[in-house]
Amino acid sequence: MTSTAPHKKAKALKPNSQPPAKALCSECGLCDTYYIHYVKEACAFLNQQIPQLETQTHGRSRNLDNDDDVYFGVHQKMMAAKKKQPIEGAQWTGIVSTIACEMLDRNLVEGVICVQNTKEDRFQPMPVIATTKEEVLAARVNKPTLSPNLSVLEQVEKSGMKRLLVIGVGCQIQALRAVEKQLGLEKLYVLGTPCVDNVTRAGLQKFLETTSNSPDTVVHYEFMQDFRIHFKHEDGRIEKVPFFGLKTNQLKDVFAPSCMSCFDYVNSLADLVVGYMGAPFGWQWIVVRNSLGEEMLDLVGDLLDTQPVNSSGDRHQAVQQGIPAYDKGVTLPMWAAKLMGVVIDKIGPTGLEYARFSIDSHFTRNYLYVKRNYPNKLENHVPSFAKKIVGQYKLPD
Ligand code: FAD
Ligand code: SF4
Repeated sequence: MTSTAPHKKAKALKPNSQPPAKALCSECGLCDTYYIHYVKEACAFLNQQIPQLETQTHGRSRNLDNDDDVYFGVHQKMMAAKKKQPIEGAQWTGIVSTIACEMLDRNLVEGVICVQNTKEDRFQPMPVIATTKEEVLAARVNKPTLSPNLSVLEQVEKSGMKRLLVIGVGCQIQALRAVEKQLGLEKLYVLGTPCVDNVTRAGLQKFLETTSNSPDTVVHYEFMQDFRIHFKHEDGRIEKVPFFGLKTNQLKDVFAPSCMSCFDYVNSLADLVVGYMGAPFGWQWIVVRNSLGEEMLDLVGDLLDTQPVNSSGDRHQAVQQGIPAYDKGVTLPMWAAKLMGVVIDKIGPTGLEYARFSIDSHFTRNYLYVKRNYPNKLENHVPSFAKKIVGQYKLPD
């Protein structure tokens, strides 16, 4: 993987200047480095190339005749897992942080790109190259905001590091894969998480203020498989707000344009993906994409309880009904939203079918967003697998 010829460099973007992807920029951090030279090919929002990068990374792209491939990307296996002893303060049970710690411990890598928060603000992302377990653990828990994880890439090359683990979300990993050969590494491992509906720091504040009854004390939140958002507060209290009660009319503009036009929810280009949405409530969802992913998962095998993934219910009607409701910004009264949440939780999709529900809902919404706001980009920006998914539904104009 070591690059033989010196790669091209360009001047990183100046603070507050317009990024090449303009409003669609997800602040992945690439343009904060001299790798901005490659932005036209590398940026996920300027050049959609998921199938090509899947072939580069996994040896093949998705098989569009295989439903699991279409939804979850190239993979060798999937499972549900949780740590026997969860890490206190992790987003779920801390599988991601544990793998990263093990990789440093066993000297498989010299550094880990991950994201801590600033001293002043628990949700303000601060990307780092962690070289100790303590630094990895300090990055546990989601910073639910756009995060310039790749902004530290230049430091990797300058430090002379040759073996690296990168933890990141889909748009960061797409750009990373596109410049991977320029990094001068001998070994690159990529541990990804799914990602959807991300926001700027200001957008996050609006979301918390609109949705939680105590926005200042939220320490973490998640859109859960029981169709509720769970906000965890400083005192340990869990506040649950049904998805169907979200003030969609006020929140329509809160999600970043990049996330409204993203079709890489499942992080197609990571070696290993750790999320939750295809697993039963309380469990994490693991997708092993290739042999490097297998190697990473094996490191923590003894520390996990596991079970096979399952699937039940039929999402189609719920997705179809949700499309015009979201489009019109319908907000249900709280009693009706709670009731609907309870009913759907009892009879609605679970396991992989819940994951498909979430993917379908987001891809249809995002397809409409791109079609209306960036009609010239629609054809090339939406990957074939996403067109196949969206094609199952009737969309408004
Ligand atoms: P931990 O051990 O707590 O580690 C979390 C890791 O995430 C840390 O290493 C940190 O570096 C990294 N991280 C934190 N914030 C960011 C960020 N903004 N960008 C890049 N990396 C970051 N899973 C789903 O199944 N469905 C979803 O819809 C979904 N949405 C997500 C949205 C965001 C913005 C993020 C960051 C993650 C999302 N996930 C989603 C993944 C899920 O919430 C957990 O992060 C994952 O299951 C790992 O949990 P853990 O306890 O093992 O992680
Ligand atoms: Fe640059 Fe990343 Fe923004 Fe694209 S998304 S313009 S690569 S910082």
